[in-house]
Amino acid sequence: MQNAVSASSKASSQIQEIVLKQKAYFKKGTSLDISFRVKQLKKLKEAILSREDAIHEALYKDLKKSAPEAYITETGLVLKEIDEAISKTAHWAKPKRVKTPLFFAPGSSKRHPEPYGTVLIIAPWNYPFQLLLSPLIGAISAGNTSVCKPSECAPHTGEIVKEILESTFASEYVAVVEGGIPESTALLKERWDYIFFTGSTHVGRIVYQAAAKHLTPVTLELGGKSPCIVDKNINLENTARRIVWGKFMNLGQTCIAPDYLFVHKDIKSKLIDKIQEKIKEFYGSNPQESEDYGRIINERNFDRLKGLIDENKVIFGGITDRKDKYISPTIMDRVTKNDAIMQQEIFGPIIPVMEYENINDVIEFVNEGEKPLALYIFTKDTAISNRVLKECPSGGGCVNDTLVHIGNPNLPFGGVGESGIGAYHSTASFETFSHFKSILHKSPSIDLDVRYAPWGKNYSKLKFLLKNML
Ligand code: NAD
Repeated sequence: MQNAVSASSKASSQIQEIVLKQKAYFKKGTSLDISFRVKQLKKLKEAILSREDAIHEALYKDLKKSAPEAYITETGLVLKEIDEAISKTAHWAKPKRVKTPLFFAPGSSKRHPEPYGTVLIIAPWNYPFQLLLSPLIGAISAGNTSVCKPSECAPHTGEIVKEILESTFASEYVAVVEGGIPESTALLKERWDYIFFTGSTHVGRIVYQAAAKHLTPVTLELGGKSPCIVDKNINLENTARRIVWGKFMNLGQTCIAPDYLFVHKDIKSKLIDKIQEKIKEFYGSNPQESEDYGRIINERNFDRLKGLIDENKVIFGGITDRKDKYISPTIMDRVTKNDAIMQQEIFGPIIPVMEYENINDVIEFVNEGEKPLALYIFTKDTAISNRVLKECPSGGGCVNDTLVHIGNPNLPFGGVGESGIGAYHSTASFETFSHFKSILHKSPSIDLDVRYAPWGKNYSKLKFLLKNML
């Protein structure tokens, strides 16, 4: 206990020192220069490219992610995001002209993006590389200094991320603080100019409370149960494989994985058969031997997931091996809203299936829960997809696919309600890490006399001008 206390106070003093240095560095204005920002992004890109194999190896050690999966969901996405920031930062950073009403003429109005200052980025373990680096790219592009806290649950990736960032940047510009709850708690005591948090809704609340003390603005990228609704009118083959792809990527340990299936009763048995066929096609008859099937992050999550599997409802899979942190692709049928698996975000390779006859019941069910991070609807019937999109709020989602909306840089990614606050990626990342200062630039000479007191005789003229020239 004594050791824990002294370790955390040591962390606190080191953190305070880093923050002070970063704030002093930010004040110097070096990070405001656009060519400086672009140069840092290029350095980061080089550092990643030269360590691509080592990053993939670390992801394999933490989550048994295959190199192709690691590239698709982690390094490839980050490299794409850096390239975009390199080519667009200068454009993003330009003041944006907006209209100026005649009443203020002659004058011009612009929104000037300016960095917040020193920002804190906290990442989870499920995409431990991408979810730390992707916000950092936005923070650099917008001209901030950053302190990054990788997840302690993916230590190999945390180690390589630390090595990359420490060998690329001075700690007064980008620093890494490793650790778990004591270190995160110490970090949250500091006064940040912005906090970008990705993780659970529970910890998101803790972060929000800490931020409120200093009125620090936040982005909270959180989780929840993302529904996957399947109408009877679908392309069966593609629906099944897109669901299997989205659910078993990283073993369902994806914030936007389809959490549960709500399937029209007329197609349910055909869809379940097809999903089983696709699981075998992707991962073979024994997924434990597949190169493309990962593992659960740790024993704690393995035990939690095992506890959610109701053997009486398993119709496929259900095989577990604690020593290997392996859970086979599992389907549970006849699931009801009262089952344990429907009481929390699953975050694992288990598909609970519920059936419906009338889409009204699905909409009502989804809207009884918290607003999800993602919502998926499979249908050829646009009246059905339009209704679901119109009536069910969510952070984002897809019609006739899963996960892929996250890959479109033109779609800001984020949640709503319990699934999060704010959004990022590409332009939205730059905007997230910038305050847009609104400036009206007036001519120093020409002036409207009616705006000044005494108003008495000019009141009606002023009213007319305000009505017609604003
Ligand atoms: P988590 O909330 O347990 O941890 C996230 C980060 O917060 C870690 O770095 C951790 O060290 C830190 N942390 C943990 N407890 C803390 C505390 N008491 N005070 C301060 N910091 C603390 O989440 P996780 O288990 O790493 O990740 C899984 C969750 O993240 C899921 O709910 C998932 O849906 C969500 N998630 C969301 C997104 C998104 O983009 N919206 C992406 C990935 C994961």
